[in-house]
Amino acid sequence: MFILAPQGQPVTLPEAPPIPQTTVPYSTEYYRKKKQEREQIGLKSRKYVRKNKVILRKKCNKERKPPSHLQYFGNWYCEEAATESFTEWRAALEMRGYGKKRPLSGEKIHMQPFI
Ligand SMILES: [Zn+2]
Repeated sequence: MFILAPQGQPVTLPEAPPIPQTTVPYSTEYYRKKKQEREQIGLKSRKYVRKNKVILRKKCNKERKPPSHLQYFGNWYCEEAATESFTEWRAALEMRGYGKKRPLSGEKIHMQPFI
């Protein structure tokens, strides 16, 4: 019995790139070098700075990330600054209309997040 390949073509696998002898991933090292070059020249990318800016919460002055910070429909819950539990906080949001099913028409919900 003679079996043909589905495409009728020989399968060619792409050659694997050489793995650099370093623990740092290639892309990270490349980016670091590029950044270093840029800083040496004195051309600091504004975009880069903004991208890496850590968002600190005004309430607790800490980085906004889990598990102490939880997001619910665009609102952030801060465990350290909160006076209520997340469940209570979320329930309060639900009372204000958050968490409801989106309208099928895709209408914009005119609602401002509260802090
Ligand atoms: Zn916080």
